[in-house]
Amino acid sequence: MAVPINLNGMSSGRADIAVIGGGILGLAHAYVLARAGKRVVMFERSSRAIGASVRNFGMIWPIGQPAREIHDIALRSRRIWLEALEASRLSYRPVGSLHVAYQADEADVLREFAEIGPTAGYECRWLEKSEAIERSQAIRSDGLAGALWSGTELTVDPREFVGQFGGYLREVGVQCRYGECVRSVQLPWIETARGRWEVERAIICAGDDFETLYPLVFAESGITKCKLQMMRTEPQPDGWELGPALAAGLTLRFYKAFRICSTLEKLKARVAAEKPEYERWAIHVLASQTSDGAITLGDSHEYGLTPEVFDRVDIDELILAEARTFLRLPSWQIAERWHGSYALHPELPFLEAEPEPGVTIVTAPGGSGMTLSFGLAERMARRIAECD
Ligand SMILES: Cc1cc2nc3c(=O)[nH]c(=O)nc-3n(C[C@H](O)[C@H](O)[C@H](O)COP(=O)(O)OP(=O)(O)OC[C@H]3O[C@@H](n4cnc5c(N)ncnc54)[C@H](O)[C@@H]3O)c2cc1C
Repeated sequence: MAVPINLNGMSSGRADIAVIGGGILGLAHAYVLARAGKRVVMFERSSRAIGASVRNFGMIWPIGQPAREIHDIALRSRRIWLEALEASRLSYRPVGSLHVAYQADEADVLREFAEIGPTAGYECRWLEKSEAIERSQAIRSDGLAGALWSGTELTVDPREFVGQFGGYLREVGVQCRYGECVRSVQLPWIETARGRWEVERAIICAGDDFETLYPLVFAESGITKCKLQMMRTEPQPDGWELGPALAAGLTLRFYKAFRICSTLEKLKARVAAEKPEYERWAIHVLASQTSDGAITLGDSHEYGLTPEVFDRVDIDELILAEARTFLRLPSWQIAERWHGSYALHPELPFLEAEPEPGVTIVTAPGGSGMTLSFGLAERMARRIAECD
């Protein structure tokens, strides 16, 4: 028997630019391009975005970005983040960050960074133990050597921001098409699961979906995926504040900013020898606070094109054990566990590709997509303005 096809809800229309993907890169591109006067349509295949952009710490983290070009993009991105947050009246915490040191080699790296970082554009300084404790009620004082303070970092609540920013984009004229998967792009046509749109350009911010659009470009690009395990506590009692977002010694192995430190190799060698299980799962520990007062904790890193769907209890235990070495929380009650996956390129800070004229793929900002999002979108808008 033939199944009747319901044609209600078919979609069609025109715009200057189609943005494909409603994660943070898609939202940022839609915002910046609409602000530049473009008619924008944004397609998100799910009824709400559920990819990496809602699964992260919400850290806007210029301090971790490698010096010069990428750090500059992060700083510009932060400025646009602030503008977008104020305009949309969504919450954020301008709390800065502390990298805490308990081992001599951690203090060496952070002291060195505090010395040479400012000459490379990082606004940061070393705090002695007493000053660090004054900045944060959340860090353990026993064994603390000191901390690196930076006031530049912001924390947003990723679920709140990504869930609600589309509503603000609608107010400023972006056509947000949630629940509409793009099946093909053949300019000027965008074929979706529900119809056909006519546009001049398309920007593809499809995150770690390498299969739907331009799969050969992805196959040849060398990008891969990374799976990360995460946890969140219950909201902390009595309005308890984390203060600055926190990172500790293991993190120094991850963020490329610290590669300018000659003391880093010694720390890496010690961690590899002393903590092989942290090396195996590429674990470091960050802590941020969401708008309801809960603390987000993570993470691990498992690389490969087909991420493992089953989470490992032992990884969560390693993360929590490390967190307890530097963090003091009124409540350690874990309320949520999940994993996320992002696209990354083994060498490049992100992937930009132009599979055909007028179509640009922007993806794979790795663990820095929240940080770089609005800066990457601004670059794109500038490039488009130059072509027009
Ligand atoms: C656990 C974890 C912690 C992290 N912490 C941080 C952090 O604190 N700070 C930071 O800067 N970065 C962090 N990151 C990295 C950051 O979250 C990602 O780099 C960023 O979210 C990637 O955004 P995106 O828009 O490219 O991808 P996504 O968020 O995955 O969005 C892509 C969207 O495109 C949609 N889509 C795909 N194909 C189609 C199609 N054909 N049609 C329509 N829609 C489509 C998908 O449904 C999806 O919603 C973290 C990542 C993870 C996983």
